[in-house]
This record gives sequence, C-alpha cells and structure tokens, in this order.
Amino acid sequence: MSVEQTTAIESQWKKVLEKTDGIIHEEVVKQWISPMIPVSLENNELVLAVDVVTRKHYVESRYGVLFGDIVQQALGTGYTFKIIVDPAIADAKKEPSAQTEAPAEKTETAEAEAETAPTQGSLPLAPEGTSAAAPDDPTSLNPKYTFDAFVMGRSNQFSYSMAKAVADAPGLPAHNPLFIYGGVGLGKTHLMHAVGHKILADHPDKRVLYIASADFTNEFIRSIREKRMDAFREKYYNIDMLLIDDIQFFAGQEQTQTEFFQTFNKLRDSGRQIIMTSDRQPQDMKDLEDRLISRFAGGTVVDIQPPEFETRVAILQKKAQTEQVDIPEDVVTYIASRVDSNIRELEGALTRLIKYASMMRMPIDETTCVAALGNYLHGEKGRRITMEMIERIVCTHFKVTSEDIRSTKRSNDIAYPRQIAMFLCHELTEVSWPTIGGFFNRDHSTVIHAHKKIQNLTESDGATKALIESLTIQIKGI
Ligand code: ADP
Ligand code: MG
Repeated sequence: MSVEQTTAIESQWKKVLEKTDGIIHEEVVKQWISPMIPVSLENNELVLAVDVVTRKHYVESRYGVLFGDIVQQALGTGYTFKIIVDPAIADAKKEPSAQTEAPAEKTETAEAEAETAPTQGSLPLAPEGTSAAAPDDPTSLNPKYTFDAFVMGRSNQFSYSMAKAVADAPGLPAHNPLFIYGGVGLGKTHLMHAVGHKILADHPDKRVLYIASADFTNEFIRSIREKRMDAFREKYYNIDMLLIDDIQFFAGQEQTQTEFFQTFNKLRDSGRQIIMTSDRQPQDMKDLEDRLISRFAGGTVVDIQPPEFETRVAILQKKAQTEQVDIPEDVVTYIASRVDSNIRELEGALTRLIKYASMMRMPIDETTCVAALGNYLHGEKGRRITMEMIERIVCTHFKVTSEDIRSTKRSNDIAYPRQIAMFLCHELTEVSWPTIGGFFNRDHSTVIHAHKKIQNLTESDGATKALIESLTIQIKGI
C-alpha cells in the first residue's frame, strides 16, 4: 500500500472515530474502537485489523449495528465494515506509545497484559490495554443491566422468572446451571448481569464473576503460556457465582473446554451457581463434547425469543424515559412496528433518532423518524419498495418521463431528478449499486457519485433536504 493510500485511509478512519462522539461512550471508544487499525477501504468496505479475537467479538456483538451506522454516517451510505484478527498488522501499525511493553509472541487469542488480582464483589479483571478496571470493562457488571431496567414480555417471560428465581435462591441443583439461549441482542447478557447485581445487593460479600467465553479462553491460554495455571484455578475455584457468556465460542476449543469443565464441576458440586448463555440450546452445540452438553443441560434451560410488538413498545418507552426524552406515542409505534428482530437494533434506532433530531433541531415526529432512520427501517410490512415506484414518484414530481431519466441526456433538468432517483433507490431499497446503475442505464460508479452528491446537498441545501424528505414520505406511503 502506498503512503498516500495509507494517509487517505487514516483520514477516513479519523472521520469515523469523530462520528462516534456522543453515540458510543468515550471509554468504550478509547478502549475498544480506536485501537483497531484500518487496513483497507475498497468496494465501500472498511477493513479493520485487531490484535485479539476478543476485540472483534466485543465490537461486533455489542456495537455492531451502531458502529455500522457510524461508518455510514462518516463515509457515506452503502459503506460497511469488517473486522479481521491479525496481530501482526495490529501490532506493527500501533503507535509506539500504545504498544505493549514486551510484545511477546502472540496467538490469535493471546493478550499481553497482566490482570489485576480478584477482589470481592464483581471482579474487575483487566481487559487488554489497561491495568485497571475501566467503566465499560467487559469483565465486570454493566450497571445498566438490572432487573428494574428489564422489560418483561411474553418472549422473555420464562427466562426472566427463572433468572429471578436464581437471584433469590442461588445454587439450588434444579436450576444450576441456568442455561439461557437465544438470538443476538435479545437480552441474555442483560438478564445474567441482573442476577449478578441482585446477588451483590443482597450479599455484598459474595464474589460474582462475569466473563465472556472468549475472554475465558484468552485468559486460559495466557495462563498456560505464562505458567500461571495455579493462579488461574485459584481464581475460578474461589468464586461464588460464575456468569459465563456466549459459550458457543468454546466450540472446537478442546483444551479450554476441558479446563472449563473442571471449573464447572468444582463450582456446581459445591452448590455455587453458574449461569451460562449461548446462541443455541445445549443439544445443538455441535462442537462441544457430549459430557459437557449433558452437564450444561442438567439444570434449567430457558430460551429468549424475539420480542413481540407490545414488548418492543414497552422497551422503547422505558429507554426514552431513561434518556429523559419525550417520544410521542405514534413515533414509538412507528419504530416498534418496523424494527422487529432484535432489541439492540431497537435501541440503536431510538438513539439514532434522538441524536438526529437534536443535531438537526427537528421535533421528534414521524417525518424526522423517516429522515433519521432511512433504510435502517425495513420498510412497510408486506409492501416492498421497488425502483419503479421510486422512479414513478420522482418523475411525477419533476414532470419528466421515465425515458428521459433513463436516457443519456445530461442537462440539469434531467440529471438532477435522475440523481435524486438513484439516491432514493439506494436509501429505500436493498438493491445493489450495479443493479441500480443497470436500471438507469448507467454503471455503478455513476450511481455512487450521484448518491454522494445528493447526500452532500441534503447537508448543505435546505431545499434538497426538504425534497428528499417529502419524496421519501410519498414513496413509503405514510
Ligand atoms: P444478548 O446478550 O442476548 O445479545 P443483550 O443482553 O446484550 O443481548 O441485550 C441487547 C440490548 O438490549 C442491551 O442494551 C439490553 O439492555 C437491551 N435489552 C434486551 N432485552 C431487554 C429487555 N427485555 N428490556 C430492556 N432492555 C433490554
Ligand atoms: Mg450477549
């Protein structure tokens, strides 16, 4: 890669980091996002290298949607990102000051820093790059994830009541371990932290340890390498409650599984509670040894389903209340009916709306919602927006014909409507750049250029912004 290219990527990366301001907590940015190294920016994809797999999992699972959004805001709609684990690149490019002191030989999962000794309560272990617990330390409990903040609905009722039962009577064989499974962003981590908080509130002397399975693996590997297995075991065998998250990442890691199995048995057999989460039920964990599967399923297994409409509404209301923002009921319903798969996305949509409204000084209403969320929302249920629909509405507005728009004419009275139509096709449909190009008899780079131009105009020119909003509303049929 040439020096110019490197500089260009770095300046784009800087833009992305700037856009995180106010959206992702600065501690999280400092610790997890900014250490990523931009390696390429081609075909609208920003590739970032990280030193350890934990960082990739953490950013993707916790901030995937928000960060994707930020990348689009910084670089333009259509841009995506990908995180690769490549310690060589990540280390080589690190600022000297950010480099760890003695860069030992690294494996994919290796971390170089020493951890702090266990303390009582939630044990603040140091993640990579720090020597003390940071507020968003992934190995300590998130203060926001309490039972109070958890909205119960049909989809999570069973998990919620079991979590409560465990919090009230930890260690009972019938619910030890408590195994919670379900899709991403549905509240598994939240529930598990809620139990931890409740235990600590009732018994401040209890030692509760939360750890993501990937971090357990890293710590295990590091302990072997540094010949500190005694300390590792001492730590894990002496806790009162183990919250172990996303154990699907143990798949295929035989040594870690064996070690974890021992920890599990030690705790379980002496009546100490274990809560585990996974994206699938124990029986479906193909790469896990059978004896582990049967042990994991030997307590209570509960699942969390995607939230139904009423729960989504309640979650949005609760979140608005927490953020102390008034969101009209029709806006809540509007979002809840369109973002229906995952709670993290639901929260992401609301955060983005609030931020957009305050930045643009617009009221929080449906119009702002459409403008702020654009293709974040999955369109009207059962009604797919097509390029033909967009073309028809744009043509009607500008009083031009479909032939004009698809012709080679370059005069502004035709070129501008064409660019607007291309912009909207990208914003409102899932169609790719080349397909949009084909529809208008252009190649994909013309579409990308048109999109960029209109995007810039919506920022600098009030008339274009208003036009895009009004056309969007017509197309969506709101
Ligand atoms: P998972 O671990 O299943 O991927 P998380 O526990 O990380 O999901 O939840 C994603 C986000 O959604 C978190 O910010 C969490 O607080 C929120 N969330 C999930 N379920 C609920 C709920 N029932 N009520 C309120 N917030 C929720
Ligand atoms: Mg989780």
